[in-house]
Amino acid sequence: MKIKLFGIVPEEIPYIEEWKHQHPGVTIDITDDLLTGETAHDTKGYDAIRTLQLSKIPAEAYKTLADNGVKVVAQRSAGTDMHDIPSANENGLVLTHVPSYSPETIAEYTIQQILRLIRKADLIEQRVEQQNFTWPGMIMGRVLGELTVAVIGVGRIGSRVAKILSKGFGSRVVAYDINPHDEFKDYVEYQDTLIQAVSQADIVTVHTPLDESTHHLINGQIFSQFKDQTVFINAARGGVVDTEAMLEAIESGKVVQAAIDVYEYESPYIPVDWTGKKIEDPIFQTILDHDRIVYTPHVAYFTDTAVRNILFTSLNSAYNAVKTGQDVNQFN
Ligand code: NAD
Repeated sequence: MKIKLFGIVPEEIPYIEEWKHQHPGVTIDITDDLLTGETAHDTKGYDAIRTLQLSKIPAEAYKTLADNGVKVVAQRSAGTDMHDIPSANENGLVLTHVPSYSPETIAEYTIQQILRLIRKADLIEQRVEQQNFTWPGMIMGRVLGELTVAVIGVGRIGSRVAKILSKGFGSRVVAYDINPHDEFKDYVEYQDTLIQAVSQADIVTVHTPLDESTHHLINGQIFSQFKDQTVFINAARGGVVDTEAMLEAIESGKVVQAAIDVYEYESPYIPVDWTGKKIEDPIFQTILDHDRIVYTPHVAYFTDTAVRNILFTSLNSAYNAVKTGQDVNQFN
């Protein structure tokens, strides 16, 4: 069996060696190219490919892959929105993803960003760099256990965020989910509507998937229902939030600070070294320049545990699907 890994991240290489050791009959080739209409041609003789993909895969790439003999496309992430499922189906390709690889990783990152914002950590660091060791009101923080947090989407990640906040810090957690789960009711107060949840919260954190129903779920109308001076976190998917509406909410004072790990038009930039190059997207530039927005480049997932789990799950899926024509993580 031959598998080609597109979009390799150097930190994956030791885990690739470990996986190869366990599967001596499989040849693995790697490239840091992403899958595009052009690079799809470089797959002749491979049974499966694994992709790191944030932007849409063009429809013609699926035909090229199938013509080259590829049977399986194993996506490296949980999200599947970059795939053209009808084109994959027309070409008989099995698509797999990694639905869950370490929800704790993203949950802990979310908690870190909440604390970073409410304790004014960046401002304190900037002042210390200037050797300013005074205690003005602008660096005074708030106690997380005294705040109400709205968790939007209480799934694998959102439920862990809610549990840490409630059980660990003593925060009140209100939540909105289209499919509430009884098992989380010990630490989550489900609300009937999204507006009911956000309108009670000091902090709003989003953890829904991105699909047609959640595109711009957090839009101008929803931001208008926030309490004034709400802290806003998005470590889910950029497209769940209407970014321009978020910037307006920051200007109007509905949102006092935001931590954004994902941006709806991030695909040209992630993960690319853009040092010294002009950012052509003025909205992204506004986010980067804004002193009340902390932007991170889609790194919430990036821990050793997550990288290993992603690598193993995606390669196991590719291997199973080539051998049997299906896999438990198949999504088409
Ligand atoms: P999940 O499927 O386990 O949970 C999502 C929850 O959202 C479910 O309970 C679902 O019922 C709920 N939901 C769906 N549509 C909704 C709607 N319209 N309104 C309210 N709730 C709705 O997903 P997960 O594994 O917890 O992932 C959550 C998000 O985190 C996803 O967007 C995923 O892509 C993202 N993520 C980001 C990173 C990162 O590095 N920033 C890493 C991994 C996952």
